[in-house]
Amino acid sequence: MLGGLTTTDGVILEIVAFIVGCILGSFLGVVIWRVPNHISIVNPKRSFCPNCNAQIAWYDNIPLLSYAVLRGKCRHCKEPISVRYPIMEALTGCAMAAVVAGVLWQIYPAWLLPDMLYLAAISIVVAYIDIDHHLILNVIVYPSYVVSLALLVLASAMMGDWEALKRGLICALILFVFYFVLSLIWPGGMGDGDIKLAFLLGMTLGWLGWKQFIVGAFMAFFVGGLVVLIQLTRKKVSVHGGIPFGPSMVVGTWIGIFAGQVIADLYLQLVGLA
Ligand SMILES: [Zn+2]
Repeated sequence: MLGGLTTTDGVILEIVAFIVGCILGSFLGVVIWRVPNHISIVNPKRSFCPNCNAQIAWYDNIPLLSYAVLRGKCRHCKEPISVRYPIMEALTGCAMAAVVAGVLWQIYPAWLLPDMLYLAAISIVVAYIDIDHHLILNVIVYPSYVVSLALLVLASAMMGDWEALKRGLICALILFVFYFVLSLIWPGGMGDGDIKLAFLLGMTLGWLGWKQFIVGAFMAFFVGGLVVLIQLTRKKVSVHGGIPFGPSMVVGTWIGIFAGQVIADLYLQLVGLA
């Protein structure tokens, strides 16, 4: 546990992170629905039922609880509310709790928490929109370059570790070029969005270290391969460009962040290099 914190402190922090995450997840649900459909995030301010257009009151918009109370139906027209909303809220809650746990377990330094929280939120948005629309939007990725870089600069400044920032930028560039070359070799496999996303993910992975970077980059393809296998056995999709790769990149990155060090050390031991 992080220095000075008791187990009780840790549990309280985890509960707060989960609750705040659920509320954030509710907002991410709005972003994921509205941005690709060109509806403003701020206007209308309140969510509305896609079936009867009734505004959803604040007390019907409480993450997880409202869905349970309303038994998954619109209060006005009784149209079922998609189960993806409570799932997204719970997922974001769990993601935020996991990110905070990463600091508590000292998997990464506390000063990296702002970037990690941001990256977790963006990961969920990118993955959902890619699954829905087979798109990774510039309007999400480009601002994230700026935000993530600023938060990594903050972490480096507070820790006096400018090597980490330099490594992060180098890794971002390496992963960007790697995906770019892949898109040339394998047309239709990687999209422009994947190449742009690679730069963003490479930045944080590289900041953490070479082990996290290499494992994170590799795991994207491991996860992607698994997804293809599962889809093929379900005969849902043809091999040719039917599966968005963004979600696999995101999942691979988080495996790299949390387990990169362990996996890399284990591998080096196995091959007798460490
Ligand atoms: Zn309705």
